[in-house]
Amino acid sequence: MDGITIALSKGRIFEETLPLLAAAGIVPSEDPESSRKLIIDTNRPDVRVVIVRASDVPTYVQYGAADLGIAGKDVLLEHGGTGLYQPLDLKIAKCRMCVAAPAGFDYAAAVRRGARLRVATKYINTAREHFAAKGVHVDLIKLYGSMELAPLAGLAEAIVDLVSSGGTLKANNLVEVEDIMPISSRLVVNQAALKLKRELLQPVIDAFAGAVK
Ligand code: ATP
Ligand code: MG
Repeated sequence: MDGITIALSKGRIFEETLPLLAAAGIVPSEDPESSRKLIIDTNRPDVRVVIVRASDVPTYVQYGAADLGIAGKDVLLEHGGTGLYQPLDLKIAKCRMCVAAPAGFDYAAAVRRGARLRVATKYINTAREHFAAKGVHVDLIKLYGSMELAPLAGLAEAIVDLVSSGGTLKANNLVEVEDIMPISSRLVVNQAALKLKRELLQPVIDAFAGAVK
């Protein structure tokens, strides 16, 4: 396809990307929250936005169905980053990845005993690496959402999840027991597109870079 296709997810990424797009002179003509359209035109005839699931953004860009995309570091670590150029930390959708457990569970003591822990998470690869580096024995259970429920329902002793205010953990009587890493969203670019369409893509990348706070 001629022109530029940008893959974005609805919600916080779309909202926080609007000022960056504006800095590149790009204004989406519809709000994906109210429109059901999955392909959204912009004020520029050569730029369109495709609305995909947050975890599908790297895949669209990897295969060139989108030239650019914006994805959380959490999502990129699980995807692996194959075929993606990652030139910029956009410093949006900031949160952190952590291990959380029920307030009454002595996680540190369980780790010292060398206990085998059941940990539920959407982030299997990141969790595996984290616990391996710490020498903690875990059985990882893959979930697709609502990780906070797992310890309460007896599915797991702990979870690996994203936290920003901590409000959701608190509401479910969970506490953060280990910090894993800070998370923010990155610009991802299809490597082949960057070579073939550099004159179109580079100005957008430069405008984003200039607009990062
Ligand atoms: P879905 O809601 O479709 O299951 P998702 O939860 O991954 O997918 P979003 O909730 O839109 O999608 O999150 C998109 C990205 O925003 C995440 O990949 C992460 O990088 C970041 N994020 C997630 N939760 C928070 C949060 N509480 N505060 C700030 N950023 C967050
Ligand atoms: Mg979500």
